[in-house]
Amino acid sequence: MTFESFDMTTALYDGRALINGVRVHALDGQTFDCISPVDGRLLTTVARCGQADVDVAVAAGRAAFEDRRWCGLAPAARKRVMIKFADQLLAHADELAMMETLDMGKPIKYARGVDVNSAANCLRWYGEAVDKIYDEIAPTASTALALIQREPMGVVGVIVPWNYPMIMAAWKIAPALAAGNSVVLKPSEKSPLTALRLAELALEAGIPPGVFNVVPGYGPEAGSPLALHMDVDCIAFTGSTRVGKQIHVMAGQSNLKRAWTELGGKSPNIVFADCPDLDKAVEAALGGIFFNQGESCNAPSRLFVEASIRDQFLEKALALVPAYAPANPLAPDTVMGAIVDQTQMNSVLRYIELGKQEGAALLAGGAQALRDTGGCYVQPTIFAGVTPDMTIAREEIFGPVLSVLSFTDTAEVVRQANQSIYGLQAAVWTRDINKAHGVARALRAGTVHVNQYDEDDITVPFGGYKQSGVGRDKSLHAFDKYTETKTTWIRIDSPV
Ligand code: NAD
Repeated sequence: MTFESFDMTTALYDGRALINGVRVHALDGQTFDCISPVDGRLLTTVARCGQADVDVAVAAGRAAFEDRRWCGLAPAARKRVMIKFADQLLAHADELAMMETLDMGKPIKYARGVDVNSAANCLRWYGEAVDKIYDEIAPTASTALALIQREPMGVVGVIVPWNYPMIMAAWKIAPALAAGNSVVLKPSEKSPLTALRLAELALEAGIPPGVFNVVPGYGPEAGSPLALHMDVDCIAFTGSTRVGKQIHVMAGQSNLKRAWTELGGKSPNIVFADCPDLDKAVEAALGGIFFNQGESCNAPSRLFVEASIRDQFLEKALALVPAYAPANPLAPDTVMGAIVDQTQMNSVLRYIELGKQEGAALLAGGAQALRDTGGCYVQPTIFAGVTPDMTIAREEIFGPVLSVLSFTDTAEVVRQANQSIYGLQAAVWTRDINKAHGVARALRAGTVHVNQYDEDDITVPFGGYKQSGVGRDKSLHAFDKYTETKTTWIRIDSPV
């Protein structure tokens, strides 16, 4: 079967929640429609979970934690199950990729080649790590022994967005589960399907019932009860800065659960005239903003080009734009798919209108595409002549829209790059090692790229400064979010 020839009417996806190892309807029987942005068709109906369902899921997670059916296993035993879980994803890679593409519109090539593989790698990596981490003994006086140990927190609530549904979930559930916690995951209402399937695959891999529960639903109805729950020990959130702030409030309002937030971005990409490879810089600038239809928190959406190479840069950039024309996400070579839904598409189009109204020069795109498909597509769009005060230079658009600014002075461009509520990522392109280090040091961002924008690995932390959030996903640092630190003092009355 090719993905393109797949008969969507046969895709009878199960939209029920997964609680305590069983697929269930919402307790009040409510559902919501899961519409594909590929062509507007109904994929399935999904359980619209609310407070009562969240209560049952949290209770299941708590019971599993209390009887130690998962956290009581030796780390090596949890490792084996986590690796099986990763293998299950790979064994069902085509199915998961198809589900992801139909549900949120990304090209099948990336759903299969990036999302499934990356999520599986994440599960495997944290599984592999968990039996290689040692606890500590403090350097105290010899009259006592102080053990410093990491313990799982208990029940972890996870709320994720729709742009990389499997990867965002994996970044949180992998370290949380590997560390021995129970998890209640609320996927985005815009892309709930793969999370539900992941929970089934986890059960098949040997994760005991009750340890990993999925409650689909809307944010205020299923997300808030999780963030406010008195029996949830930690809430790990990825999404917008607006909702992220509410998550911290809800954690404070309830039981002071640990709250970790991975939020928005408006990442600056600074290209100096002495950039070592202009073609590579152009490719990275466009690849970065147009990958995943621009729906990436770390997309380099503010491009600062030194004035002396601006025209040359833009000429090369415009020549590349046609390669990103939106096309059928199920076609094997498509690189730009559908925007996740009508609401998000309209929001992107509204920002494009604002860009025009505020005086930016529209160089490419600027309109909806492939209207006759019934899906949600936006042309790859480039604005030049953007100034820092314009809305499209300040706000996260979360679509395929690049804002190009130009500069002449290094200190000034660093000031402008940092002039943002966000601080997720940044990039600098120069062959001058002093400038590269100096600018990288001055940029207020969780990750700074030098002369590339592609490098990514599960071994490195991912997260932001400022209003891009609190805490880090990926790397061994992620275990800090899902474990408590316990000190045990043991008195030693030495006979010798
Ligand atoms: P969103 O904040 O609207 O929704 C995120 C999740 O929160 C969804 O599951 C949603 O249902 C839930 N939610 C909404 N309102 C809620 C409430 N009142 N209480 C509890 N939960 C609620 O964000 P989105 O549109 O799904 O995702 C896009 C955003 O995510 C962008 O800002 C993007 O930058 C950010 N993002 C950040 C990272 C990162 O690692 N920093 C990664 C991916 C996406």
